[in-house]
Amino acid sequence: MGEAFKALVLDQADGKVRAELRQLDTDRLPEGEVTIAVEYSDLNYKDGMILEGIGRLVRDYPHVPGIDFAGVVEASGDGRYRPGDRVVLTGWRVGELHWGGYAQKARVKADWLVPLPSGLSTRQAMAIGTAGFAAMLAIEALERHGLAPGKGEVLVTGASGGLGSIAVAILARLGYAVAAVTGRPELHDYLKSLGAATCIDRQEITSYGGKPLDRARWAGCIDSVGGPALPAVLSQLHHGAAVAACGNAGGLTFEANVLPFLLRAVAMLGIDSVMQPFAVREKMWARLAAELPPEKLEATVHVASLAEAPSLAKRILAGAVRGRVVFDVNI
Ligand code: NDP
Repeated sequence: MGEAFKALVLDQADGKVRAELRQLDTDRLPEGEVTIAVEYSDLNYKDGMILEGIGRLVRDYPHVPGIDFAGVVEASGDGRYRPGDRVVLTGWRVGELHWGGYAQKARVKADWLVPLPSGLSTRQAMAIGTAGFAAMLAIEALERHGLAPGKGEVLVTGASGGLGSIAVAILARLGYAVAAVTGRPELHDYLKSLGAATCIDRQEITSYGGKPLDRARWAGCIDSVGGPALPAVLSQLHHGAAVAACGNAGGLTFEANVLPFLLRAVAMLGIDSVMQPFAVREKMWARLAAELPPEKLEATVHVASLAEAPSLAKRILAGAVRGRVVFDVNI
C-alpha cells in the first residue's frame, strides 16, 4: 500500500462523464520518473471540455483531469529533479491522455516538467497556467513577425477570459496600446485595470458585414476566439501585420477571403502550447516571471476547491469565467 491522496476522478457511463472527489492510493499513479505533491492546479477552456466529456480528449476512464499543475517534487528517478524542487507542468496532453493535476499527487515524465522560475510561487504559476503560457507564446510569435510597441494598437479578443486577460496585462506592461474585445461590457473596468487602453464590444468585431478589406486598424492581434471574429480581424490588420490564432472559444471554423493576404501581406500565426520543447518552455516561463506584473496577475485570480471544478467547467465553456481560476488542491 502506498499513501492516500485526494483526487477528482472522472468516470464515463452511458456516454456521460461524471466527476467525483475520491481518495486514491499512490500505487495507482501512472508510470513516470517524478512524483509531485501538487499544490495548485487551474482551469483552462480545455479543462472545461474534458470535465464535460467534449471532443474525446480523454480515451480511458477512470481518469484524473487537470492539464496544468505546480508543486513540490516528492520522489525522483531522474537526475534533473530532487525532492523539494518546485516544478510546473503544462501541456504534453497531461490531463487528457495522462493523469493530471486535479489531485494532491501526480506522477509524470521528467522531460515534461519545468523548474519553477525564480520569482514565481506555485500559486502564481497556476494563475498563469496553459492560458498564460499560450499568451506569452503568442506575444513572442507576433514580436518575431515584427510587432513592436509604437507600431499601433494590438487587438486582444476574448479579453476577459484567461488567455486574454494575461495577454492584455503583458502587452500593456511591454508598452503596447491594447484594444480589448469583450462580450461583457460590465468588465471594461477590469480590462482597463489590467492595462487595456480601449475596450471594444464583441459585436463590433463579429458584425463587420464581410467586407474583404476593412479599414486597417490593428498592428497585431491575439485571438482566443476564432470563428466569425477571425475574418473580421484579418480584414482590419495593418499591412504586413499578423494575428496569432490561439483559440476557438467562439467557433472552430471561419470563412474568410484571401484579399488581406494578397493586398496587405497579413499573416496568421498558429499557437500551440502543448508540444513545445523544453528550451522554449524555459524561455517563456522566464519571460512570464519577468514581464507579467504580479499585481495584475493577482487581479485575474479566483481561488477555488476541486469540489467546485465541475460547475466551473460549465461556466468556462459558457464564456462566463473572468480571468483565471486557480485550484488549491488542499482545501
Ligand atoms: P476562457 O473561457 O477563459 O476565455 C475565452 C473568452 O472568449 C471568454 O472569456 C469570452 O471573453 C470569449 N468568448 C467566449 N465565448 C465566446 C463566443 N461564443 N464568441 C466570442 N467570444 C467568446 O478560456 P481560455 O482563456 O482558457 O482559452 C481561450 C481559448 O484559447 C480557448 O479556445 C482555448 O481552447 C484556447 N487555448 C489555446 C491554447 C493553445 O495552445 N493554442 C492554450 C490555451 C487556450 P469575453 O467575455 O471577454 O468576450
